[in-house]
Amino acid sequence: MNENLQSVLYLVAAVAFIVGLKRLTSPATARNGNRLAAIGMLVATVTTLLGREIVSYTGILVGIVIGSAVGAIAARRIEMTDMPQLVAAFNGFGGGASAFVAATEFIRHPGAIDTRITIVLSVLIGSITMTGSFVAFAKLQGLVSGNPISFKGQKWFDGVLAMAIATLGVLLVISPTSLEFWILTLLSLVIGVTRILPIGGADMPVVIAFLNAASGLAAAAAGFVIGSTVLIISGALVGASGLILTSIMVKAMNRTLIGVLAGGFGGTSGPQEEIGQLPVKRATADDVAITLAYARSVIVVPGYGLAVAQAQHVMKDLAAALQEKNVEVRFAIHPVAGRMPGHMNVLLAEADVPYDQLYDLETINRDFSRTDVALVVGANDVVNPAARTDANSPIYGMPILDVDAATTCVVIKRSLSPGFAGIDNPLFYLEGTLMMFDDARKALSDLVTAVKNV
Ligand code: NDP
Repeated sequence: MNENLQSVLYLVAAVAFIVGLKRLTSPATARNGNRLAAIGMLVATVTTLLGREIVSYTGILVGIVIGSAVGAIAARRIEMTDMPQLVAAFNGFGGGASAFVAATEFIRHPGAIDTRITIVLSVLIGSITMTGSFVAFAKLQGLVSGNPISFKGQKWFDGVLAMAIATLGVLLVISPTSLEFWILTLLSLVIGVTRILPIGGADMPVVIAFLNAASGLAAAAAGFVIGSTVLIISGALVGASGLILTSIMVKAMNRTLIGVLAGGFGGTSGPQEEIGQLPVKRATADDVAITLAYARSVIVVPGYGLAVAQAQHVMKDLAAALQEKNVEVRFAIHPVAGRMPGHMNVLLAEADVPYDQLYDLETINRDFSRTDVALVVGANDVVNPAARTDANSPIYGMPILDVDAATTCVVIKRSLSPGFAGIDNPLFYLEGTLMMFDDARKALSDLVTAVKNV
């Protein structure tokens, strides 16, 4: 393929990525943005396949068939609630691919001066991302404990590893040898495991966002290694957007990135046998329907349980039934509600809940004190007042939705079981809280009927 045409097509792909990314910032344009970015990726892939010195297409075709089959099956089968694991696995493969590209280039031209720094960076970041992401996957999938796992002297061990990696990296840039290269790769793979294992489950959202950024940076470095502009651009976009997301998540959980990566925090904590032992006020669908139907304003707080129960459509029906009775209904979205960034937005968009009824934490929090009913559906950690009051709580300092400030708070969940952070929730035992124990879909559908009958 003509080189000029190739550059133009890469430019088209890059523009599609950037515009696609921009469109992802609003739920109204997100689908379209995703499609545009996918088209950009197709253009980039086809251009690369036609424009590079491809020796044989057989291996590539086999790879495309296997990869497409795995991707299509995974996309169809994976539950929305398992999305973080899937993203973690994708990050791992992305990092691994970049490390492989750089390693291949090192094997082909071990002495090439102009690509040494980027080869080292690509292998280093790619390998750490690969093993780190697979550990994150295993933690979220429950294959290993979500609690921090560490051994005595862990931080020293990692410190020595990091220093050895830095020294080898410098040596490789000055005068590369194969031995140093493979030791660096091995140590990077090891530190990916030892740095992520001590991080507790509650910090995993931040870790995944950060590893996502790292996979992008590894890809950008690989782009420099093989001189692929489009890989540099797409890697940089993933890296930059991943870092922005990491900063949003860190802020939402009132943590620092260094604090998260230092580990030893965010696992299940507190005496488990004490969870759910205090008396609560139970309410039936009829009790709750009356409270809701006579309210002036209701703020719904959706959480992970809404997603598990797939109750978004019936949630919308309840909102519509209340709006018919002139009740103002708004939805409060916590940035880490559910199991992936934007989980609740996606869920409610699927049920066609109008975007203007969705409010983020900062905007809505001051309104709870002027609200008659806060209706918490399958949320737990994001409404746990211990984050404000209990300095020993693993979620202390995380901004939460202040549902306890509403006149009445109704919580729909199946039991007093804890949420992701594994801790009790004092909200359930407050004077103004009514507990409606049921599966979210069943409870909401009973409420729709009961509200219509009020
Ligand atoms: P939580 O995990 O705190 O709580 C969810 C609650 O839903 C549980 O207590 C459970 O109680 C209830 N539930 C489960 N199934 C059902 C059902 N079928 N019907 C009704 N209720 C149900 O969820 P939140 O959304 O409040 O908080 C999210 C948590 O996940 C935070 O700790 C966050 O840090 C973490 N996280 C977030 C990620 C993100 O990117 N958003 C990624 C990974 C983790 P019961 O069993 O009694 O029904």
